[in-house]
Amino acid sequence: MKGITVLGSTGSIGVNTLDVISRHLDKYKVKALTANTNVALLLEQCIKHAPEIAVMVNEESASKLEKELKIKAPDIKVLSGVEGLINSVESTEVDYVMAAIVGAAGLLPTLAAARSGKRVLLANKEALVMSGKLFMDTIRDNNAELLPIDSEHNAIFQCMPTDFNRGLSGVGVRKILLTASGGPFRTTPLEQLAAMTPDQACAHPNWVMGRKISVDSATMMNKGLEVIEACWLFHTQADFIQVVIHPQSVIHSLVEYSDGSVLAQLGNPDMRTPIAYGLAWPERIDAGVERLDLFDIAHLDFVKPDEQRFPCLRLAREAMQQGGTSSAILNAANEVAVNEFLHKRIRFTDIAHVIETVLEKVMYNDATSLEVILNDDKLARELAKATTVDLAA
Ligand code: NAD
Ligand code: MG
Repeated sequence: MKGITVLGSTGSIGVNTLDVISRHLDKYKVKALTANTNVALLLEQCIKHAPEIAVMVNEESASKLEKELKIKAPDIKVLSGVEGLINSVESTEVDYVMAAIVGAAGLLPTLAAARSGKRVLLANKEALVMSGKLFMDTIRDNNAELLPIDSEHNAIFQCMPTDFNRGLSGVGVRKILLTASGGPFRTTPLEQLAAMTPDQACAHPNWVMGRKISVDSATMMNKGLEVIEACWLFHTQADFIQVVIHPQSVIHSLVEYSDGSVLAQLGNPDMRTPIAYGLAWPERIDAGVERLDLFDIAHLDFVKPDEQRFPCLRLAREAMQQGGTSSAILNAANEVAVNEFLHKRIRFTDIAHVIETVLEKVMYNDATSLEVILNDDKLARELAKATTVDLAA
């Protein structure tokens, strides 16, 4: 029996994780559930899964949950704040941690899971984008296991030889082909992009996801963050990774080998597949996912990404190539810009503009410590906010 903490259990990944766990109660036991403010859903999940700990980062929400649980499930301990999150992953009874908080807020608890030597199921790509080398070193130094949950990285992991840590050319890998759906605006006339609304940006053609990652998919910053994520996970550089637009989202990514073989992982677009893979690895378990019907799909398309339409893709590559805290700066500026867009304070096309401005103005540093990373994250957020205020004026 493996004990599991689900960080961000009320989100899209969190809910899918609990769905897979519910199918295998003989193998997995939920030890802790965490959320930010959604009291009603966390309460429902607590009653169903009876964890030992429930964390609400928001203090007021934590008090509300505590009041409810006192009557309905008094044995569950309620914690709050970032310390609560960290606490929820550190217990010796926790074997696996699903890192599914969205954005930089997930960094500290995800790092804590790595430091405690857990199996880290990484959905929270922003944590790795921000802290790259530091995160990978923490995993290695503490004998933690890192299983990518992002569907593309999970696919790449499945297509890689087991000893890829030796370096990709050493194991005969020539290229990583990272697939992207192209999001909801793949064919929208360029002159109409500025007027696209948050609801239009969040209407993803193939995946149902949280609002932040949905906007990232519309700008393709999501794919930019994923290029950076892949560089760290698979010990390689950005120019080793080719982004391929594949609108059906059936091939989740591919690995090209020096003998001409190209291995791909296919499946219906359902996050329960990579979640189940991460939970059960190296075994396989039922994920509740509908089987892939190739006759139904009939054909698969592939297109080169258009950088004029998707400037965020270029910005992410440039940040990765620059190195140091550049990726953390890019991520912070993006989080602020997306939030401003979701609140209708800037236009869709302003998102890339804000990020580019911040990357030009904030001096990056060597990412030698968490303090340096968090400091540059803070500076980038301040400048991004100021840039969006100027734009709105
Ligand atoms: P979501 O918005 O649906 O859920 C986010 C979760 O994080 C919620 O449980 C929320 O309570 C929690 N949270 C939000 N702010 C917080 C804070 N400040 N402190 C603590 N907890 C906080 O997001 P999602 O779509 O589930 O995505 C989660 C992560 O997984 C993201 O990093 C995303 O990029 C990644 N991911 C998601 C998908 C997907 O299909 N949804 C696919 C690949 C990767
Ligand atoms: Mg992905």
